[in-house]
Amino acid sequence: MAMNQPRYICCFLLMLLCCGGKVAYSQDHFDRIAANIIQYLKADADTAKVQKAVSSFQSTMLPNGSWADIAYASKAETNWVPLMHLTRLKQFALLLAMQQGGQQQLEKQTLTGLRYWLQANSKSNNWFQNDIAAPTALGEILILLKVRKLPSVGLRDSLLTGMKQVNLIKAVGANKLDIAVHFIYRACITRDNSLMDTAVNQAFMPVSLSYKEGLQPDYSYRQHGPQLQIASYGQVFLNGEYKVASWLVGTPYAMPAEKLTILDRYLLDTYLKTIRGRYSDFNIEGRGISRNDVLDRLPITTQGGKNSLLALARTVNPDNARLLDEAEARITQKQAPAFQVTPAHAFFYKSDYTLHVRTFYSFNVRTVSKRTIRTEAGNKENITGKFLPDGATNIQVIGSEYNNIMPIWEWDKIPGITGRDYAADQKTTLEWGERGVGAFTGGASDGQYGLSVYGLDYNEVTAKKAWFFFDDEVVCLGAGINSYAREAITTTVNQSWQKGPVSAFVKGKVIDVSAGISTSELQWLWHDGIGYSFPDKGKISLTTGIQSGSWAAINANRSADILSGKVFKLWFNHGLDPVDQSYAYIVKPGLSEKEMMAHPTSPIRILANTSKLQAVEHTDLQMVQVAFYEAGTLTAGSYTITVDQPCVLFIKNVLAKNPVLYLSDPTQSLTDLYLGFSSAVFKVNDPISVSLPQGDYKGSTVHIDLNPR
Ligand code: CA
Repeated sequence: MAMNQPRYICCFLLMLLCCGGKVAYSQDHFDRIAANIIQYLKADADTAKVQKAVSSFQSTMLPNGSWADIAYASKAETNWVPLMHLTRLKQFALLLAMQQGGQQQLEKQTLTGLRYWLQANSKSNNWFQNDIAAPTALGEILILLKVRKLPSVGLRDSLLTGMKQVNLIKAVGANKLDIAVHFIYRACITRDNSLMDTAVNQAFMPVSLSYKEGLQPDYSYRQHGPQLQIASYGQVFLNGEYKVASWLVGTPYAMPAEKLTILDRYLLDTYLKTIRGRYSDFNIEGRGISRNDVLDRLPITTQGGKNSLLALARTVNPDNARLLDEAEARITQKQAPAFQVTPAHAFFYKSDYTLHVRTFYSFNVRTVSKRTIRTEAGNKENITGKFLPDGATNIQVIGSEYNNIMPIWEWDKIPGITGRDYAADQKTTLEWGERGVGAFTGGASDGQYGLSVYGLDYNEVTAKKAWFFFDDEVVCLGAGINSYAREAITTTVNQSWQKGPVSAFVKGKVIDVSAGISTSELQWLWHDGIGYSFPDKGKISLTTGIQSGSWAAINANRSADILSGKVFKLWFNHGLDPVDQSYAYIVKPGLSEKEMMAHPTSPIRILANTSKLQAVEHTDLQMVQVAFYEAGTLTAGSYTITVDQPCVLFIKNVLAKNPVLYLSDPTQSLTDLYLGFSSAVFKVNDPISVSLPQGDYKGSTVHIDLNPR
């Protein structure tokens, strides 16, 4: 037996020599990448449909390889008809790749069609058609035809030459990735290592935290300047990057581990956490909020079949399969919205957005500052979304609370906002987003708890709005509400689909208010699994009637059909010319009517609600959260907090010997500040110097153990 061993070694050496080291190794990878791309292109194709389309186009193709219904000389910028020539040939190539052999006539017609494309030399006046749409379609055709080794080298190279005339390096954003994709096709077809290197490097370049647009250091996503776009452009980014990464898995061109970590974190910790059950937060869609079904996330589990976003993410990193399966089970509604949801809290200081997730609910807030841009309108979309970023609160328990409600919303009563109550919806004046106003927008977070603030100063209305996030409740405070506008000022608590009865506690009695109410005596109210309590009462109105509207009124590209439905709308009336008015309400999502009626002792103490200072203590959690709009002191029972600069902070274990501080600078302008803290069991003699994060991390939270022993 031992004698055989050298022979095996010889064989192995011989194999190595035959394969020829690196070059042969890479060549195998080109085949593998091409096979992955072909599999991707075939994955969402329906054979019967492709067959039907192909036989129809085969019969109408002229002998010279053209079609009579295509104006090859067209230079149109949109709906550029010559592109149809390539989409038809792509169907031909797809069918050839799907079937094993035969189809000589189809092979012949495909080649004639490709030769005609060269001859026609069609060009659009829109660079996108020439530099992205046409080369992509051509690349896909050539990759699909690889299966049958069809085009001659001469024809192939002439077609590839046309695809080269694009500057990949200079392209930005989503365009860069689109161009990189057809560079990858070309590198695969020509087995060109250095071209593949360039294409892949460029394709993965946006997976980085240092871009002005795109993914941010706080893992939010911005587009069109500093504008929140987590689901809209952020989703295009996810789809594109996972698509390319899935083609390259297991090859030397695979996405580098450090980039994959970034991409996965954006998907898992930001994007998927904005979804409750099947539906996403209405705050993250950009102007897409005005499109029907935009909140429905079912497509990320099904669209493209095996090419769905979640399927691609699973292919790229099987280690995430469990988390992705759980998300898919919630989105497809095979499991309840609470299924495997773990608590999380994040303040995105680059985009002025707060995410607060608990097993039984989500409560997210959209704000804006002079560092960011208000929600955009454009291409005749989101016509009435003028006030969307003014502290909009997305409160979801089931998930469908706002699904497709947009056409019938009263748009100056977006949930959570404070603003003027107009008789009619106001149109957005500036397209593509208006720069925000005010510096004091920020939040502090430890990943579980936190508070966020918004210094509203828009449309002749000012207010200091703050949200204090705990486990079972979110406390919403507003102070310094001032306006000289002609309209009355309101703060909207919610405006969602009306579902089931509404009960309220008024003058010490539980009453049914399903038909609406207007009162100054409301203590709490319950509707559709959400409780609202009003510790300081206030002039509060509830309507539950039918509201009507159309998609066309908010998005000119959509249907003008009139829709209507019952809407639960609850708001504070601050009246005309309010001076230093305030509001306070506590939202308890995921609560039954019975639990609300049990009226448990509230663990919430509102310690201050003025335009200088807002503070809330949670006695069960031993946590105090404070917004200091100016330097000052908070004294609450046995403890005192002093700061020499405006900031937001919270202290855990506030009454214990080991208090922990979380603090941030909403103005993103300070380098350091001094903090004093003392309680019955904790004393520091000198104020503590707190250094604030700088550079890309301005506005993020500092964590300090006040007693590190
Ligand atoms: Ca109104």
